Amino acid sequence: MGPPGAGKGTQGELLSERLRVPRLSTGDMLREARREGTALGRRVEGYMEAGELVPDALILDLIDERLEAAGTLDGFVMDGFPRTVAQAKGLVELLEDRGESLDAVVNLRVPEEELVRRLGARRVCAECGEITGPEAGRDCPECGGRLRERSDDRPETVRRRLQVYEKETRPVLRWYREGDVRVVDVDGTGTVEEVRRRLRDRLGR
Ligand code: AMP
Repeated sequence: MGPPGAGKGTQGELLSERLRVPRLSTGDMLREARREGTALGRRVEGYMEAGELVPDALILDLIDERLEAAGTLDGFVMDGFPRTVAQAKGLVELLEDRGESLDAVVNLRVPEEELVRRLGARRVCAECGEITGPEAGRDCPECGGRLRERSDDRPETVRRRLQVYEKETRPVLRWYREGDVRVVDVDGTGTVEEVRRRLRDRLGR
């Protein structure tokens, strides 16, 4: 967990590679649905462009489907979910139905001025989804695809996403802290490698 720009996607990817389990990113799933022009993609477009959250029921259906799909039996890393207390409670039910529970909640902490700076500089590959900064130039260092700004990284949308995080998502952390899931706070500032090491040390795996 963490606000937009905290590094959830980047660190989530590294963690899922290390643990050899899939990463379930609701943001990526929704962007894919939009790229493919599915009914779900069309439904969520307006919310995402405005920096608002997509309704809980849609998100919980999406997670339910992904947990059904093969590959999550040995565990998974979730990224960008749950973002509301209702989603966190819904997740408990989905996991209970499967005899599972969460091992840990990772909270990446980054000061707001750093988030705004990172999001303004973020470039994403239209082909492979690689996340990089403006120093990469026009083309993706991974696959050569075209690098673009993410459409919801515009300054006014960023402000809204940060407000939504404070109002809807920060309470989820409080909810986890009051419960019995282990919450691991990690300083998300510094380089990708520094954060990766800190996360590994704090998580102990
Ligand atoms: P992300 O890539 O995680 O920053 O998500 C991008 C956008 O997708 C968010 O600003 C929301 O509009 C939507 N979204 C992603 N995950 C969720 C979620 N768990 N609940 C509601 N909306 C979400």
